[in-house]
Amino acid sequence: MIELDNITKIYRMGKVEVPALRGITLTIRQGEMVALIGASGSGKSTLMNILGFLDKPTVGKYLLEGTDVSKLSDNKLAEMRNKKIGFVFQSYNLLPRVNAIANVELPLVYSGTLTQRRKRCLEALERVGLGARAHHKPTEMSGGEQQRVAIARALVNNPALILADEPTGNLDSVSSQEIISIFCRLNQEGITIVLVTHEMDIANQAKRIIRLRDGRVVSDEIVKRDEKAICERLEKENEQSARGKGVQP
Ligand code: ADP
Ligand code: MG
Repeated sequence: MIELDNITKIYRMGKVEVPALRGITLTIRQGEMVALIGASGSGKSTLMNILGFLDKPTVGKYLLEGTDVSKLSDNKLAEMRNKKIGFVFQSYNLLPRVNAIANVELPLVYSGTLTQRRKRCLEALERVGLGARAHHKPTEMSGGEQQRVAIARALVNNPALILADEPTGNLDSVSSQEIISIFCRLNQEGITIVLVTHEMDIANQAKRIIRLRDGRVVSDEIVKRDEKAICERLEKENEQSARGKGVQP
């Protein structure tokens, strides 16, 4: 679904050049759930912004579902982003004065009738468990609920890809887990997910972990969740059978 070839991004600050990405080459297949990790300043947000067409690489090629993104006009880019990509930010980026439905409706402004739009917004809010809070404003919601509204907004156009840049960065551990569980469920429903996180217990719930350092990929690993679960179960069983025989574990 995503093919990156030698993606390089250099920011120019006056006469100073800041290399944010130094040749990223990788493929993300449809249906993957990828956690992007790495120290602050390693280029995670720059990469996410390029993936979401919010920024353009200085050098390199980006194919999304086979389309060379650099060849698209700004209008086509906006259209493709709107159709295929949902973006979730650390800071929710909601309009504080309007209710959840109106926030979720933002990417839909030009499609369908008002009734159709409202229906789709409600469905998106129901998918994140917020059907009952549809008429509440962000100021009346917890951080976790606000982030769920932001996910509903990202979902409302039925995207194939969700990009989430530190979506749990402002949340306590319980709300963070709720948000990650929603992403896992959406991934099981077939949406490809790329999420940036600092926390390993969150990254470990993805299927694949890519680590950046100084704008380069330094590791790219499949999470062997099942193997780990099996090991833990075997250990427990061993302990129990040892206890059963009166042997100290
Ligand atoms: P991360 O999200 O991993 O913390 P970023 O992608 O935000 O990292 O930043 C990578 C590098 O690029 C950093 O050195 C940062 O200072 C620099 N950078 C990011 N955005 C800009 C910008 N708009 N202008 C100049 N430098 C930038
Ligand atoms: Mg960042």
